[in-house]
Amino acid sequence: MLNRIDLRGGARDPRRLLPRAQLDVSVAVERIRPLVEAVREHGYPAIREASERFDGVSPERLRVPVEVIRAAEDTLDPQVRAALLESITRARKVHADQRRVDHTTQVVPGGTVTERWVPVDRVGLYVPGGLAMYPSTVVMNVVPAQAAGVRSLVVVSPPQKDNGGLPDQRVLAACALLGVDEVYAVGGAQAVAMLAYGATVDPVGAERCEPVDMITGPGNIWVTAAKRLLRGVVGIDAEAGPTEIAILADDTADPAHVAADLISQAEHDPLAASVLVTPSTALADAVDAELARQVPAAKHADRIGTALHGEQSGVVLVDDLEAGLRVVDAYAAEHLEIQTEDAREWALRVRNAGAVFVGAWSPVSLGDYCAGSNHVLPTGGCARHSSGLSVQSFLRGIHLVEYTREALREVAPHVVTLAGVEDLPAHGQAVSARFPGETP
Ligand code: NAD
Repeated sequence: MLNRIDLRGGARDPRRLLPRAQLDVSVAVERIRPLVEAVREHGYPAIREASERFDGVSPERLRVPVEVIRAAEDTLDPQVRAALLESITRARKVHADQRRVDHTTQVVPGGTVTERWVPVDRVGLYVPGGLAMYPSTVVMNVVPAQAAGVRSLVVVSPPQKDNGGLPDQRVLAACALLGVDEVYAVGGAQAVAMLAYGATVDPVGAERCEPVDMITGPGNIWVTAAKRLLRGVVGIDAEAGPTEIAILADDTADPAHVAADLISQAEHDPLAASVLVTPSTALADAVDAELARQVPAAKHADRIGTALHGEQSGVVLVDDLEAGLRVVDAYAAEHLEIQTEDAREWALRVRNAGAVFVGAWSPVSLGDYCAGSNHVLPTGGCARHSSGLSVQSFLRGIHLVEYTREALREVAPHVVTLAGVEDLPAHGQAVSARFPGETP
């Protein structure tokens, strides 16, 4: 039975009472700090030592040869290949529509500001590979980066014992399908540090991974901690840590489907969160009964059970769907399913969520693979201020400011006044010097 949190009959602060793992990323940051420093200082030997310690394996050369990446495509099961291609096609369709166009605003006659959208030059994409393998995450990272026009893409993914220290074979094949040819068999905090600082990647120091400008992609608490530590040294997308699903449901929801969806995200990680928010005790009871039936039959029953019974998961009972909406907004889930009557109406009122899955036929698993939407989404409440990965994540807006002499002269008195208010007279002087003999 899931933990129950009863928020009925009171206007208590839901954010404080909601289940959420006390995932102390700041503790993890301190744990990985020496490793990140070692990678910065020594490069290859420090990466190698960490891979052997945490992954139990590492290839001698960390960069995966291009021939090996391309050959991985040939080893792909035809059904997996077809599914990946479908996932790529759908994601490309959605992400192509996210492209931005430059826009020029005429502020005054002779004075314009143009916003140019320029892709980041070099990006490092983290593809997890600890408890599960994520060829789908290659798609979700690479497609928006390519659609944005990023020229240099690097994929990192943990070395796998069962693939001779290379990343997972399906991960390599997905890289091949997408035309990525710079891949390193490195995971965890050591991979994030290598991408941020650059590092040697072979025993004699002949090969290097050059530093990137930005790192994106999901990962476990160690990856998340390294991203938090290195934010600023390098651009970082939102924190996309252990996954979360919240489901807002009423009596119209099918308990078997609700249970299956809660299980599907619990399968990722013992730290994953599965939360049902409902005004219906009958549904909550029926979902508990379904979980009791479905969990033991699941392949990863152990980690599912740990995740479902952890402090981060549970059922939140609310007075009605209005109260439920306040709760899911306060929770700001990475994935939010709405399984209610008039689901779309409720979905359109949601303020905080990474992605919203509307109605009975749009489960999170669809979004994980083949909806066309992106599955790299903010976790841990970051959906209150951040978005999932998109083309926009890889673009910078650069303003071009272009004024004529006349347009500058016209506004000069205001610039001089504001410079005076801020006690920065040289600012005003930089303008008035252009109009000698005139009093702007
Ligand atoms: P991972 O690649 O993130 O982590 C594996 C790495 O962690 C290893 O390579 C190892 O180097 C490092 N590591 C393991 N134990 C360590 C320790 N004690 N100290 C330091 N480093 C250590 O793969 P994973 O573990 O399978 O985790 C993937 C995570 O990504 C899951 O939590 C999943 O929920 C999440 N995910 C999130 C999203 C999203 O968009 N939010 C999408 C997909 C996956």
